[in-house]
Amino acid sequence: MKIYRLICALLIFLFIQVSTDAIHAKEEEDIYEQRMELYKKTEALTLIPWYYFAAIDQYERNIQKDVPSDQVISISFEPIEWFGMGNAKNKNEMVITLFHGIGKDGDGDNKADPNNPEDVLYTMGRYLQQYGYSKEDIKIALWNHYQRDLNVQSIMNTARVFKKFNGIELTDRVFPLPSNYNYSYNNTWGNRRGFGGLRIHEGTDIFADYGTPVRSTTYGVVELIGWNLFGGWRIGLRDVHNIYHYYAHLSKYKDDIKVGQIVKPGDVIGYVGSTGYGPPGTSGKFPPHLHYGMYKDNGYSEWSFDPYPYLKKWERMGKE
Ligand SMILES: [Zn+2]
Repeated sequence: MKIYRLICALLIFLFIQVSTDAIHAKEEEDIYEQRMELYKKTEALTLIPWYYFAAIDQYERNIQKDVPSDQVISISFEPIEWFGMGNAKNKNEMVITLFHGIGKDGDGDNKADPNNPEDVLYTMGRYLQQYGYSKEDIKIALWNHYQRDLNVQSIMNTARVFKKFNGIELTDRVFPLPSNYNYSYNNTWGNRRGFGGLRIHEGTDIFADYGTPVRSTTYGVVELIGWNLFGGWRIGLRDVHNIYHYYAHLSKYKDDIKVGQIVKPGDVIGYVGSTGYGPPGTSGKFPPHLHYGMYKDNGYSEWSFDPYPYLKKWERMGKE
């Protein structure tokens, strides 16, 4: 009898678990749809392509701390920029314009509300319009707004990725090595390194044979290729969450890979090797492995974080 009750309790627990997961998945889907609808609507009003709004919005979400999961649009303006200097937050568009604020009414309710997603997107659209509609014009507008090269580059690249895959719900991920090859790895993040003075190990080493294909784990853009003293032949990709994925010690690159290229999860970018720890071409100073690192950028600075839990998750996903 006791066992029976225990099984019942377990089943109920599992049922609740599965249904809350399903609800979360559904909510997530809805938010992508809501966002896309708003971007497309703003495109219709301003003739600025939807993927620029999507990329700016994604960028602002990336740099915010503790974003509420139901937040639809993350673009925000400083009150003084929105309402204008000296305006006591009057939302009338004419008053705002009089005070040199940039807030605009996008949904036609005669209020320019900095907490209304349609007003915020429309205001961003009107801001961009002042500079023009070409890629170069938008780049200049973004530079004047964010004042940092990497931010502008990240937004422009994200826009290209959204455009290419014609969507914003780019949530697929894969493990960097194909599951039908032999490999092994442990959590080595934060270990001390001997070569080149005291450094900590900013990544996970995945040991595999020479020539094992190395794949992009995410959607993103190739940001950097070339030789590095520690990394050997390495390649860096940046994804739409402004995370930089660093692959090192490759024996060679995939033939046609180049900076600026857009990749998707599973695209082969190179092959496992043991290059590095010397001048260009140095190889064989340690067993062949892929060094995989992840770096987060918050719009001001960049720091390394532990890729191991993500690798474990992507590996599991590939086996399901
Ligand atoms: Zn390593």
